[in-house]
Amino acid sequence: MTSLNFIHPPDFKNITKNKKIEQAPLPKRAILHLSQHAGAPSEPAVNAGDSVKTGSLIAHAKGFISANLHSSISGRVIAIEESPHPIIGISKAIIVESDGQDTKASLDSIPAKDVSALSKEEIAALIREAGIVGMGGAAFPLSVKLNPPPAKKINTLIINGAECEPFLTCDHRLMLEKPKEIILGAQLMAKVLGVKDIIIGIEENKLDAIENIKSALFRIKDENCRINMVNLKTRYPQGGEKQLIETLLDKEVPSGGLPLDIGVVVNNVQTVFAVYEAVYLRKPLYERVITVSGSFPSIAKNILTRIGTPIKDILDYCGLSPKAGVYKIIMGGPMMGVAQFNLNAPVIKGTSGILALDKKFKVKEEELGCIRCSRCIEACPLGLMPCAIGLSVKKERFDIAGSYDPLDCIECGSCSFVCPSKIPLVQLIKLAKLKIKRR
Ligand code: SF4
Ligand code: SF4
Repeated sequence: MTSLNFIHPPDFKNITKNKKIEQAPLPKRAILHLSQHAGAPSEPAVNAGDSVKTGSLIAHAKGFISANLHSSISGRVIAIEESPHPIIGISKAIIVESDGQDTKASLDSIPAKDVSALSKEEIAALIREAGIVGMGGAAFPLSVKLNPPPAKKINTLIINGAECEPFLTCDHRLMLEKPKEIILGAQLMAKVLGVKDIIIGIEENKLDAIENIKSALFRIKDENCRINMVNLKTRYPQGGEKQLIETLLDKEVPSGGLPLDIGVVVNNVQTVFAVYEAVYLRKPLYERVITVSGSFPSIAKNILTRIGTPIKDILDYCGLSPKAGVYKIIMGGPMMGVAQFNLNAPVIKGTSGILALDKKFKVKEEELGCIRCSRCIEACPLGLMPCAIGLSVKKERFDIAGSYDPLDCIECGSCSFVCPSKIPLVQLIKLAKLKIKRR
């Protein structure tokens, strides 16, 4: 059983919400991981010594749940080797050294023609070829989401503009600066899925984006589908797929199920924008907008950066001083992001932000025992029992932990945030998920 539980952490979005998207410099070296999406790592299509262009295919999707990978700069492949990864520690990557030219390659499998004349199969092929994955964080290959089993009839496409994670404003800026492109991308997705209803959900703390999208909708008509813009209350984790579906459609995704089980596909606005670029501009996914923010307002920016750019290069460009007093660097937001231990790890397709935090963000109190206050249960948007899962994991009773449905956890971090005993519940639940999946 689910329940619509939400929390209200401070959002810190004022730091960057008025920062226009600026182009970050090209990295001297791009570290392009073969694992930067859900599913099987992609398979290299190049060797060390090969010349590549920006947008050249350098690794193929391997299997059904996988994604193509393209070079984000032009230059030469200097190695295919283990390299720091921002989420999984270390993993194989194709390293490309820049020639400084940024010579472009483009998607060319479908002959150039008017986009309105493209069939849904041709649009799907361009999306697959472009290596697009969910850019809200989960990095699930989009071509798989857009190709549901024949028995699953999809009737609604939801465009997720909630961006509920504190600090992050990259989606907000994209909706302000590229509203027309987002709508055109959504229409392409709807054509592939054969759906007539698109809902765009945006939180009310982004009223300017709501107005922008509304006025773009007024200008771009599509007789084949209805697009409905819905204002969402500002609360966390509003942008989780299951929460968004429940808020917008009053429908519940069954435990262990997927949105497509109830006829829904959800995609983040950056993913939709990437679809626009793939189909209208024949551009593979090799760059994305990220927010750089945290405790040091002088470094705050929204930047369009190449995938594979090391975190260190980004922080240098934003002007983070080595003497600034950084306590922690996080990739992503503070609730769901991952602390970084090696700043040579690069931006990947699912990276939404980089936060530099000072000691004010350090959890000061020591972890205490559970006082059975049930706050974690009240906060969980999935109606889970985080305390029971956490306690079982601490006792290494993964069999008991498994009986509390930890695999349904979306790792939103709300339980850890509210726990007065500072128990790292989300980390314990992640461990439970890992152990249960391995069995
Ligand atoms: S991290 Fe998981 S268990 Fe904790 S509140 Fe979020 S969904 Fe619930
Ligand atoms: S919030 Fe913390 S202290 Fe309260 S029941 Fe949950 S785990 Fe125990």
